[in-house]
Amino acid sequence: VGSLLYIKFPSDVGDVEVATTRPELIPACQALAVHPEDERYKDLVGRKARTPIFEKEIPVLADIDVDPAFGTGIVMICTFGDEQDIRWQQRYKLPTQKTIDEKGRMTNTGRYDGLDVNTARKRVVEDLRALRLVSKEERVTHKVLSHTERSDCQSPIEFLVRKQWFIKMLPLKQSVLSVCRSMEWIPLHNLQRLVDWVGSIEWDWVISRQRVYGTPIPFWHCGQCDYIIPAEDERLPVDPSKDEPPLEACPKCGSTRILGTDDVCDCWVDSSITPLVISGYLPRESYFSRAYPSNVRVQGHDIIRTWLFYTTMRCQALTGEKPFRQVLIHGHILGPDGYRMSKSRGNVIDPKEHLNEHGADSLRQALLSLTIGSDFPFKWEVVRYGKAFLQKYWSSARFAEPFIRSYIALERDPKALTMVDAWILTRLYRVARGVTQAMEEFRFHTVLETVQSFFWHEFCDQYLEAVKYRLYTEHPDEAARYVLFTVLRTTTLLLAPICPHITEEIYHVLFPERSELFSVHAQSWPDPGLIPHDRAAEQGGKVVISAIAK
Ligand SMILES: [Zn+2]
Ligand SMILES: [Zn+2]
Repeated sequence: VGSLLYIKFPSDVGDVEVATTRPELIPACQALAVHPEDERYKDLVGRKARTPIFEKEIPVLADIDVDPAFGTGIVMICTFGDEQDIRWQQRYKLPTQKTIDEKGRMTNTGRYDGLDVNTARKRVVEDLRALRLVSKEERVTHKVLSHTERSDCQSPIEFLVRKQWFIKMLPLKQSVLSVCRSMEWIPLHNLQRLVDWVGSIEWDWVISRQRVYGTPIPFWHCGQCDYIIPAEDERLPVDPSKDEPPLEACPKCGSTRILGTDDVCDCWVDSSITPLVISGYLPRESYFSRAYPSNVRVQGHDIIRTWLFYTTMRCQALTGEKPFRQVLIHGHILGPDGYRMSKSRGNVIDPKEHLNEHGADSLRQALLSLTIGSDFPFKWEVVRYGKAFLQKYWSSARFAEPFIRSYIALERDPKALTMVDAWILTRLYRVARGVTQAMEEFRFHTVLETVQSFFWHEFCDQYLEAVKYRLYTEHPDEAARYVLFTVLRTTTLLLAPICPHITEEIYHVLFPERSELFSVHAQSWPDPGLIPHDRAAEQGGKVVISAIAK
């Protein structure tokens, strides 16, 4: 919410009224503009007006981007109040005037210099009122450009006039799009976010930042004619803010004023080389030819237009190829109230604070139980469910331990299996196949649901109950031991990527003499085809189990 002021500007055809929410930008006003078909101002177009207080003569333009319904239909073009001002400045080659400095204070305004923007706005309004130049004031809700990118800081953003370094990117837009279309997007709809973004790009890539810390930009320039002098390859890395320039004089104009930039690179300049770094681009050519492109890029949807876009553009420009085969875009975890987590809202969940209580594997299950690509509010119930499942998994492993610790897996004669044994093994076979397929397709929620429901409801609740009598005897039944061994071992391997800690523990406890591999994570993924399966037994076993349940 702000206030819209109607301010009188003197002009060749008498006073005209201009409505603005940013009166402090009057010193940066370069022109007034009206819509070309606005009958009210037919006589004004092409004439001169003067800015109040500052008395600067400015032209009155006609432009189709002016909204005749806003305020009085006359707008100030200031360098720069918003992005539309930038377009107008470029379209009409208007002069620019820097009135706000890097510290957010007024400059080049005379009496307002040194004031912060808000104070300056109040002071300008007071002065305008004293001159009787404010005819009306309205409360309005308007959009203020503010800092929201990966932050909830909300500070207003001002456009500053500064020289920056750019990478000429606009000519690469189409090739980036075609490369992106050749990658597999999971979920597919995120491709559209990138397509929309590329379509909306109007400017080249600003790679320079005015920060204390960062990767130096390896360029010098001529203080006379702006000629750009890059660092020599063999001298890289360089820091032009300290290092000697590669040339003593400008090759273009001969000036000896060669200036090194003390700007640093935007973070995406650094991060856009990841697929090149990991594949040994340049130093390791034979490795690079095998390792590039990468298999999969995993990232959030909020950085499609930055990390993903710049990486693709840069890698494509350098290698002529896509950087990844697949792009996996995940959503965000929102606060429990469904809003983005932010300190000001007080809905931030810090997982570290609760790790001891619930365990990392419970939290991992909760996160992976969500459909990839969408945002979800955080729910403790899901974490608790994950923990309850792990408790079930742990207690069944303890139950099974004495029966399978010394068990040596042999080739089974399927005839020795009872119908219930064959049933649960066939179910395990189907679960392993389904989970393998779901893993290939990054459907982690399906993996979890399938394993949890099989292990908990079929294996623990039904199978274990049905075979306890065969185990609690002097000579526990061999077939039941074989099933226990096979189900626990397979389930442990299937769960290992999602619950890496508990599976590692159970792996070492249950299968010690078989742990010649140092970790469950060094084991091969289970081959579903090796699990005995039998469609007839699956049907028969189901009947037996439901009979037992009754
Ligand atoms: Zn901020
Ligand atoms: Zn020069």
